[in-house]
Amino acid sequence: MSTQNLPVQLRVSIGTAISLDLIEGKMDVTPATAYLMTFTEGKCLANCNFCPQAQESKSNTNLLSRVSWPAFPTFVVVAALNNAIKKGNIKRVCIQVLNVPNVFLHVDSLVREIKKNDPGICVSVSCQPLNSENILLLKKAGVDRIGIALDAASEAIFRHIKGVEGGGIYNWHQELGLLEEALLIFGQGKVSTHLIAGLGETEQEIVCLIQWCVDKGILPALFAFTPIKGTPLEKHSPPNIESYRRLQLARYMLVQGITCFKHLTFNTEGQIVLFGVDTTILDAIVNSGLPFQTSGCPNCNRPFYNEKPSGPLYNYPKNLNQKELDEVKRQLNIRPF
Ligand code: SF4
Repeated sequence: MSTQNLPVQLRVSIGTAISLDLIEGKMDVTPATAYLMTFTEGKCLANCNFCPQAQESKSNTNLLSRVSWPAFPTFVVVAALNNAIKKGNIKRVCIQVLNVPNVFLHVDSLVREIKKNDPGICVSVSCQPLNSENILLLKKAGVDRIGIALDAASEAIFRHIKGVEGGGIYNWHQELGLLEEALLIFGQGKVSTHLIAGLGETEQEIVCLIQWCVDKGILPALFAFTPIKGTPLEKHSPPNIESYRRLQLARYMLVQGITCFKHLTFNTEGQIVLFGVDTTILDAIVNSGLPFQTSGCPNCNRPFYNEKPSGPLYNYPKNLNQKELDEVKRQLNIRPF
């Protein structure tokens, strides 16, 4: 594929724009991943009810979750990116793909352009591929990881938030099928999905889906629902932080193979009450702080994607300090540590 399909503009997350010196600003945490998003004049064809880019959303199209993504000419972004990769500041490029016509041709050209200067740079693409041809196109372009977001933890919530009941175009079974296709093309361990906690699911439902992902060889990344003004869910509350901590801990242990769904105990409300490991192991895992850091591809830290800098911090973008660990332990309310 030639560069004739290279998009004219690209959106860049505000943190990435600062770290690439495209705009001036200060950051507490420098992202090791450059976050890019495809540009469109209008809206995404899909209608995911939490998303500011969605067809019926009245939000600012500069936004994805609570992060703003200013647009720049593609050649400016690629040049800045090459420079940052050369200096060793950027280890991975993550491209968020909107569902718009011809977008996979644009992404194909973009990935090839980025890889021209450093064929070894890791590229992740987060998209709704719609068919296996698009998955194959990304693989051939040199993408090393693909993310296909399920977002919802159950078919019923999916239908309501991303599917027909929410005015959307996606279908749960089709998405599961595409994840399986992606596994065949990219291989186990190279496929991710995003799950959003706080859309009305129980902890048991989301943990069950995490186990399904783990069994398949899909990496599940966990996010906290973030209400964005102008979306149908703008008045919906973010998840309870105590519940989110339990989910982070369970996700981490499931992904690491330390415990599994059938060893977890839930109460009648579907909340996790026991993690199926002894206290010494649990203490060590909690004290490492690792379960509470941003989950996703290697080198993904997406600072302040879900949270206001004033807190609460759902996903920590770096190692937790002692004060943060103490706060997490208090939220988990598991004693003793
Ligand atoms: S497909 Fe992605 S960008 Fe489009 S509405 Fe859904 S979450 Fe938003």
